Amino acid sequence: MPRNLSPRSAAPIAGPEIPLHRRTIVWFATVGALLTVLGLTLSGSEGEGEPQASANAEMTAAVAPMDPPPTPVAASAAPEASIPPWTEFRVRNGDNLSLIFSRAGFSDTDLYRVARASDGRSLRRVYPGETVAFLADQESKLFAVRHVQSPLLTTLYTRESDGFVATDQVREPERSARNVSMTIDSSLFLAGTAAGLSDAMIMELAGIFGGVIDFVLDPRQGDTIHVLYEELMLDGKRLDDGPILAASFTNRGETFEAYRYTDLEGDTSYYNEKGVSMRKAFLRAPLDFTRVSSNFNPNRLHPIYKTQRPHRGTDYAAPRGTPVYAAGDGRVIEAGYTRPNGRYVFIQHGEQFETHYLHLHKLKVKKRDRVKQGAVIGTVGSTGAATGPHLHYEFLVNGVHRNPRTVYKILPKARSLPKNELPRYLAAIQQPTQQLASLRNAQQLAVAE
Ligand SMILES: [Zn+2]
Repeated sequence: MPRNLSPRSAAPIAGPEIPLHRRTIVWFATVGALLTVLGLTLSGSEGEGEPQASANAEMTAAVAPMDPPPTPVAASAAPEASIPPWTEFRVRNGDNLSLIFSRAGFSDTDLYRVARASDGRSLRRVYPGETVAFLADQESKLFAVRHVQSPLLTTLYTRESDGFVATDQVREPERSARNVSMTIDSSLFLAGTAAGLSDAMIMELAGIFGGVIDFVLDPRQGDTIHVLYEELMLDGKRLDDGPILAASFTNRGETFEAYRYTDLEGDTSYYNEKGVSMRKAFLRAPLDFTRVSSNFNPNRLHPIYKTQRPHRGTDYAAPRGTPVYAAGDGRVIEAGYTRPNGRYVFIQHGEQFETHYLHLHKLKVKKRDRVKQGAVIGTVGSTGAATGPHLHYEFLVNGVHRNPRTVYKILPKARSLPKNELPRYLAAIQQPTQQLASLRNAQQLAVAE
């Protein structure tokens, strides 16, 4: 919701009074010196809301030349210590621009001028964690505002003869190739964490293989995973995860591979080594596996919680509250409560298939809702005839119960890349295929030694 930026009176605005140290500013005459001054500040450890001068000029941003500020002083006269001080404020929860301008000693009229002249751009809204910095001229009038939205985007507003002008300073992170190998000792989640992958990366990995591997019931001690991925770097520091480029998962001796590929229509997805989509019509395990403690219970393939009905599904022991996902796209045909089922959801997928989810703690959908694969439809519980929290999951084909663990063998095949695109795909994955193979070989050698 855009804030009301109409000019208001410059009457004092209620808010914490923070002393300002706006020193007289010695200006550089040259644009070059000014550019150095405009270097972005990326360090994020400033005290909350405390004004501080930032003269961090590690990077010199390329900005359009600007008119020199009024009454410049010759650059030669400016000693190094007199770099004009930016006064920087970190946006706090509940902050708005009016409060921040006030804290910096500027008025709503100043705010209005900046916001108007900049075609609004980013300065209409600020979010906690961002910084807004102010630069005054030697008459203590606002000369420039610097809004750091992220390490990659800063908008600079500078006063020119006919108002403020906005310039975006956009930085591109460097992409750095990485690879990681791990052996499952107890769970994918623990193996990934031990290998230094972020939670988000582990979830992404699980998502890629979620159509071919049941991450609750399939993994075995000694399974191996190799991942080629990118890290986004800025100034030599890790900024964020990049995408997973390729991965292989060897589960009980069978190896699954997945490659990220952007097809001729521009859609990016993951395919196996033959160009078959990794995205299947149904998830192999319809719940958040990261919440499932991974004991290699030899009995876990048997019903471990007795129910009062013939057992026609798969039980996933999981803590109460674990998110339960729709196994595939479909429509909720039942969502309610019965004594044996407890709280339950039935989903219809196309003409032939139905999936059932029983003993839920909470329902997150209602009858007739449309759901997408992976949508949270409820949480694990122990309602109805259940002795402990678990998901009882059933899969029906044409009204007949099938074993969810093996039913995928009779499901329709996943989409493949068109034949005429296959040569392009195979060429694209040649290098990552070799990389994954050499990672697997290296690991086998290491195990053999
Ligand atoms: Zn059951």
